[in-house]
This record gives sequence, C-alpha cells and structure tokens, in this order.
Amino acid sequence: MEKRSELYRGKAKTVYHTDDPDRLILEFRNDTSAFDGEKVEQLADKGKVNNKFNHFIMSKLEEAGIPTQLDECISDTESVVKKLDMIPVECVVRNYAAGSLVKRLGVKEGMELSPPTFEFFLKNDALHDPMINEYHIQAFGWAKAEQIEKMKELTFKVNDVLKKLFADAGLLLVDYKLEFGVFNGEIMLGDEFSPDGCRLWDAETREKLDKDRFRQGLGGVVEAYREVAKRLGADI
Ligand code: ADP
Ligand code: UDP
Repeated sequence: MEKRSELYRGKAKTVYHTDDPDRLILEFRNDTSAFDGEKVEQLADKGKVNNKFNHFIMSKLEEAGIPTQLDECISDTESVVKKLDMIPVECVVRNYAAGSLVKRLGVKEGMELSPPTFEFFLKNDALHDPMINEYHIQAFGWAKAEQIEKMKELTFKVNDVLKKLFADAGLLLVDYKLEFGVFNGEIMLGDEFSPDGCRLWDAETREKLDKDRFRQGLGGVVEAYREVAKRLGADI
C-alpha cells in the first residue's frame, strides 16, 4: 500500500490517498482539541495510543457483525481504512448524563439514562456542531431515511457490544460519538472509536478516563487512555 497525497487534515487526524482508490490512510496525530478547536495541545504518544485503541475496538465491532472501515494498522500512528463517502452527522448515544446534555437540560451528571438516548449533531465546527433531527437530515439531503435508520440501528448495536466490553474491564461507557459513511452502497462505521470521542468512567470511583481530562484540565490524559487499554487487554 503506497501513501499518496494528503486529502484532508482534520483536528486530530490527517487523511491520505493511497494507490488503491478504495483505500485511505488515517494518520492519528498527537494534536488534541476541544471546544470546536479553541483549545489545542500536543500530547505525547496520543496518536499511537488512539490508532491502536481504534483498531482494537473496530476489530471487536467487526467480530460482532458491525460493518466498519477496518483494514489494517500499518505503523504506530497509521491505519489503512476503506474510503467511505462520509455522512456529515455525528450519532451520539448516552447511557449516563454528562457533557452537553447536562448543560442543555440542567440534569445531574452521572444519572443513568433508561432507555439510553440518541442524538444527531451536524458536523460543522463553525456552527459548533448544532443538534439536528431526522427531518433536517433528509430535508437537506445529508442522508436518506433508510440510511438514517441504519445509522441508528448500528449505533445502538455498538452500544450493546461496547457496554459489555467496557463493563468487563470495570468501566462505564457513559456516552460516545460515531460517524458513518457509505462504501459500495452500504452504511459502515468510519472515523474512530477512542477515548477522544467517548466518555469512560471507572465503574467504582467514577474517575474520568477520557478526553474530559483534557477538556477539564485534569492532566494524565494519555495515561488514562493507556489505563483503559490495559484493562481491556489491548496491545498498545
Ligand atoms: P475533524 O474533521 O472533525 O477535525 P479528524 O481530525 O478526526 O476530524 O479528521 C478525520 C476526517 O476524516 C474527518 O473529517 C472524518 O469524517 C474523515 N474520515 C474518517 N474516516 C474516514 C473514512 N473511512 N473514509 C473517508 N473519510 C473518513
Ligand atoms: N463528541 C465527539 N466529537 C464532537 C462532539 C462530541 O467525539 O464533536 C463525543 C464526546 O466526546 C462525548 C459524546 O460525543 O463522548 C457526547 O458529547 P457531548 O454532546 O456531551 O458534547 P461535549 O460536552 O463533549 O462537547
């Protein structure tokens, strides 16, 4: 697999073309951003940890029958993935109240949500990723009704698989964000699953072991990600 020109440089990853028109290389950088890119720092080894973490999780999801972009890890910080036609929405499932939900609705952080909630956000930093619903997605042509249904179905299936995986490692999967794309007409999970895009708390102490450590200036960010990987038995 030959790495070719840069396609896109995002806040945390750089995407490269390859000699295969159906494959891209995702490079996970150490850049860590929060508040729509207002706070940015370099955290040593984060790219490596997230690349391997993402590969571990996507492999588990594939094993559970969820279609993903997964191909192979080709270096510490780079993975080959299927080139998806990305749908510009973020799918968020929450098992416990935290983050923007707490701010928006004034509910108490840590409250268990039964049933888990589902939200769509538009991927648009300039507009601060506004919350949208299925009507907006269809009316503006971001996805069709059956694709919306599939994204919801897969996002909840991911919840079933990962809630258990993390629970077995003594962790609560509080919430997470997924991005999907289309490959040969099929909806697949793209982007990444890492502690940058989810909330994970120690099940006993509720210590935060995810990007909230960065958002809230708690320190020990990459150390926490490594701790999660260790508990999962991921080789990082
Ligand atoms: P952002 O764009 O939010 O700053 P990143 O730095 O993570 O985020 O950039 C990665 C970009 O690559 C995102 O825009 C994401 O939608 C896109 N992307 C992720 N996975 C794939 C894929 N498999 N195929 C095509 N594009 C992808
Ligand atoms: N999230 C993300 N990227 C975003 C927005 C949210 O990865 O652009 C993740 C976030 O890490 C959390 C979940 O989605 O795990 C829900 O985020 P929330 O709406 O609470 O917003 P936040 O407080 O993170 O801004």
